[in-house]
Amino acid sequence: MPLMSWEHSQSVENSRQSLLAAKVNWKVRLSPSGVHLFERNSGVNVLLDEIQIEPARWATAPRHVSVALTNTCDLACSYCFAPKNPASLDFQRLTNWLDELDTYGCLGVGFGGGEPTLFPRFADVCRYAAHHTELAVSFTTNARHLTDALIASLAGSAHFVRVSMDGVGPTYEALRCQPFPLLRRRLKSIHTIAPFGINYVVNSRTVVELDAAISFAADMGASEFLLLPEQPIRGNGGIDTCTEQLLRTWVHGYRGSIPLTVSEAGADQLPTCNPLPGEAGLHAYAHIDATGFLKRSSFDAYGVNIGAGSVMTALGTLRKSDRG
Ligand code: SF4
Repeated sequence: MPLMSWEHSQSVENSRQSLLAAKVNWKVRLSPSGVHLFERNSGVNVLLDEIQIEPARWATAPRHVSVALTNTCDLACSYCFAPKNPASLDFQRLTNWLDELDTYGCLGVGFGGGEPTLFPRFADVCRYAAHHTELAVSFTTNARHLTDALIASLAGSAHFVRVSMDGVGPTYEALRCQPFPLLRRRLKSIHTIAPFGINYVVNSRTVVELDAAISFAADMGASEFLLLPEQPIRGNGGIDTCTEQLLRTWVHGYRGSIPLTVSEAGADQLPTCNPLPGEAGLHAYAHIDATGFLKRSSFDAYGVNIGAGSVMTALGTLRKSDRG
């Protein structure tokens, strides 16, 4: 199919008019995969993949960027990948980066850490991203500090919440150092302001509780269940071969109603589909750590310091670098 300009494509125009008539706020991203429309309140994605876009018109920002607001966390999970050096991002710089990413076609930002709710201006950051940009706002939390007051202050400023829950009952309490009934209460409150998903680290202790965990997640109203096969940290830990096999068997036998997703690291031999195969690497995803370095992923040691400068300039440097 020859390359065509979006404006000159009648089929695209017709599709665009239909979608606009639906009275929702679509964000449009032109990419190697085609015309991607995204609606952050519903999470609906529409891909017009019959349209090819000239490379010069592709969005230059990654589709999704994760941001570690702070390295601070008051838990000490053995499989935590967050660096332990104290660091937090500067609010003003961060909001400048969010503006840039939004302008250059990024669709969503995910705040993490450390524990992002311990970032002093956490609610302000979410509010800024939700009300001053068109980015979808999500965050990943252990929910320990998500008090009812904080949850209320996040209403309208978060489009999706990811809650860490590894195992259920006593296993969860041993791994996450907080009462399981408290998690239940937190999930009920979170559900009043935004859809949420469960982030589940899979290791030899938690794999045997997958059925109980997914049943609990369904009862609580979760929209997604993210499997995170445990990754080795600084040479220690990581999912073992036997647990990997158990996980594969469980996934192949899964017939539940909550959609399963899996981290790219650890997805080998699991049935996955990538609807946007044309967008790989830094076109799809980038990570900003709590010291302001832009990286290919949170596990990557190498990054480019954004400093007081532009995140898009740092992205260009990272793309050009041998290691980026
Ligand atoms: S709660 Fe998250 S950030 Fe905190 S120690 Fe555990 S894995 Fe790390």
